[in-house]
Amino acid sequence: MKKKRIVIVGGGFGGVRAALDLSCHVYQDADIFLVDKDGYHEYHPNFYRIATTFLPESRIARPDTFHELRDAIAIPLTEIIDTSKIHLVEKEVSEIDPTHQTIRFTDGKALFYDWLILALGSVSNYFEIEGVQEHALELKSAHDALQIRNAIDEVFSSSPKHTPIDMVIAGGGLSGCELAASLACYVKQLTRVHPHPKDNIRITILEAGDAILRQVPSSIRRKVEKRLRQLGVRILLRSRITKVTRKEVEGIEIVSREEHPLRKKSSNEPTNPFTLPYSIFIWTAGVKAHPITDFIIGAKRNPKSCLLVDDYLRVLPFENIFAIGDIAECTPEFSDVSLPMTAQVAISEGRYVAFILKRIIHKKMIFKYHKRTSRFIIPLGSHYAIAEAGWFVISGRLGWWLKRLVTFDYLTGILPFWNAFKRWRTSHKER
Ligand SMILES: Cc1cc2nc3c(=O)[nH]c(=O)nc-3n(C[C@H](O)[C@H](O)[C@H](O)COP(=O)(O)OP(=O)(O)OC[C@H]3O[C@@H](n4cnc5c(N)ncnc54)[C@H](O)[C@@H]3O)c2cc1C
Repeated sequence: MKKKRIVIVGGGFGGVRAALDLSCHVYQDADIFLVDKDGYHEYHPNFYRIATTFLPESRIARPDTFHELRDAIAIPLTEIIDTSKIHLVEKEVSEIDPTHQTIRFTDGKALFYDWLILALGSVSNYFEIEGVQEHALELKSAHDALQIRNAIDEVFSSSPKHTPIDMVIAGGGLSGCELAASLACYVKQLTRVHPHPKDNIRITILEAGDAILRQVPSSIRRKVEKRLRQLGVRILLRSRITKVTRKEVEGIEIVSREEHPLRKKSSNEPTNPFTLPYSIFIWTAGVKAHPITDFIIGAKRNPKSCLLVDDYLRVLPFENIFAIGDIAECTPEFSDVSLPMTAQVAISEGRYVAFILKRIIHKKMIFKYHKRTSRFIIPLGSHYAIAEAGWFVISGRLGWWLKRLVTFDYLTGILPFWNAFKRWRTSHKER
């Protein structure tokens, strides 16, 4: 009998977990394909480190520096996947045709599937704000992290001594706060080798909402705000960006009802236009699902283009297409809140899909997906992190070590022990 074919698209957190679990259980009963456009598995939680790694001047221009930095956060899929059990395809998917059960690549070739697992992640959402896409740097890949590094080096070496350097980060979410704190520590190191007085360098987070980190408990949020302010990061809340030009960010400050209790809700209209000059502008203010979801005719999507999935993570009405991780919106049974876009959710969904495909192939009963709660560890500069551990909040060096342990745990789950250990050491090496 011809073997059934499972195609996983995306070698990120969800895709790799699904591939590894399937390769343990069903590689003899089904042909498994893992498709990824670059052939690398990138570790997003450490992107900020690469963007802000201090290097001695002699190392900056060396060609091996780029590879060394990239290696710290991007692992070739060939090191993770046993290619005797899984077919690895390094191609970019451009189309999905659920009617003919095929995916098509940018080179025009196609691949048939019996079951498809979509794990393509997310892309930046610019909300169609004028000039953002054109002028902003983003932090969605290892390449982006290296670009931010280069841009900072460029600004420091090309700006005259007493010119102010303004680094503006759009978005006070996890990525924005981690990056701002890490930038503040990086800048301190840079001022030792560049002739720029510390007071001339300003790091600002622009957040449209009433608070940064709205997804974390308020006790953690307060600690993060305190730490950021200690590091000299300016946080501007209720500041909505409306336009970005080559040198300036334009926006409006929303005056909230809390500040003006006599105002009615309807008068909570935008006021106070502002203009902020910038030397570096980084966009971390929003994400949406990978644009491939636009082409899956018949599938339901949310406003962020994420595919709505049922309790078995299937993209209805297609019973043989699953979506996991950032590309999916999963609202578990008995909950009205959808799961956040985090690596933890992507991994648990990847594990679940592998589990139920195994049961489907072995003709056993299947069970609904049960969500796992996400815990937060927020690294905030050199040797400092704030971590939520059950009822406790751990901060400082202990939090930092917890983050390191979590990274180690993840790496040993996808790589052979010694390889994981080596990568873990380099990913936290002070250069
Ligand atoms: C800076 C940053 C820091 C973060 N920190 C944390 C954290 O500390 N903890 C946490 O839980 N989450 C964190 N996240 C969120 C987490 O990284 C995502 O939720 C997670 O990566 C989603 O996993 P995924 O499998 O859906 O997609 P991804 O891991 O993004 O993987 C998508 C894969 O699809 C591939 N791909 C894309 N397009 C194509 C195509 N057309 N054809 C073929 N392949 C394609 C890509 O190469 C990639 O390998 C962070 C995110 C960012 C950006």
